[in-house]
Amino acid sequence: MQAFSLDGQLCEEKDATISVMDHGLLYGDGVFEGLRFYSGEIFRLDIHLRRLTDSAKAIGLALPMPLSEIEQALYKTVKASQLDNGYIRLIVTRGTGNLGLNPANCHSPRTIIIVAELSMIPDHIRDSGANVIIASTRRMSSDELDPRIKSLNYLTQILARQEANVAGADEAILLNRLGRVAEGTADNVFIVKNGQLQTPPTSEGALDGVTRNAIIDLANRHDIPVSETLLAPYDLYTADECFLTGTGAELIPVAMIDGRELGDTRPVYEILSAAFSHLVQPK
Ligand code: PMP
Repeated sequence: MQAFSLDGQLCEEKDATISVMDHGLLYGDGVFEGLRFYSGEIFRLDIHLRRLTDSAKAIGLALPMPLSEIEQALYKTVKASQLDNGYIRLIVTRGTGNLGLNPANCHSPRTIIIVAELSMIPDHIRDSGANVIIASTRRMSSDELDPRIKSLNYLTQILARQEANVAGADEAILLNRLGRVAEGTADNVFIVKNGQLQTPPTSEGALDGVTRNAIIDLANRHDIPVSETLLAPYDLYTADECFLTGTGAELIPVAMIDGRELGDTRPVYEILSAAFSHLVQPK
């Protein structure tokens, strides 16, 4: 079942409410993390908490609870959900202010935790691969809005996802303003070309994904050559394999990009997908 916590206290869904004057709602002013737990253990919790801390720092938001208390609240909420495996949304909002956007008027950031089962990806997509498009909506560059900040404002990604919906596709890949591949709407992009695994560097407009980094580690451990490479749409269209990674998505193979079919064998994806499943099982 689902479980909720507000400012470190467990509560019912109906009581998990914050003010309409919270700048998280009024301006998307806040930060978040999506985490997963497997057999009750939160995957790479320390890295998620570091990223949350850095996102908060980057927007000048003081986390309202020490990390040790956030960790306790996360595990308490996981326990209350009675789930062995599931997804956690951890949100810190700027808190209540007035209708002006000035964050200096907000004095009490709120911490929200939601634990739920998550089946983001239908089985048929995991089996036969996703149909993706390249969106016309562009990912902002790091000199505009740093993509490493995981903020509550996801309008860019939502617009790209809407483009995918209109096109009847499963997901959209965003380019940066130079027309190079940045990432998916909530996932990082990998391709395989001639046995080489490649993914764009975060400086291209990609989030420094926890799953992305786990896959790079696993590739190294399995002697699969892996590099951070600048990628154009051409590289996606002509890839031997393509897959997406994210906490929600885990690993999703891509079958088609803008109507171009990729090969139907995915040897590198298969190795890494099996290795990832093995990795997330607590020892
Ligand atoms: N890019 C974006 C924009 C995301 O929202 C996410 C999911 N949080 C990712 C990439 C994947 O990152 P992670 O593996 O840390 O979930």
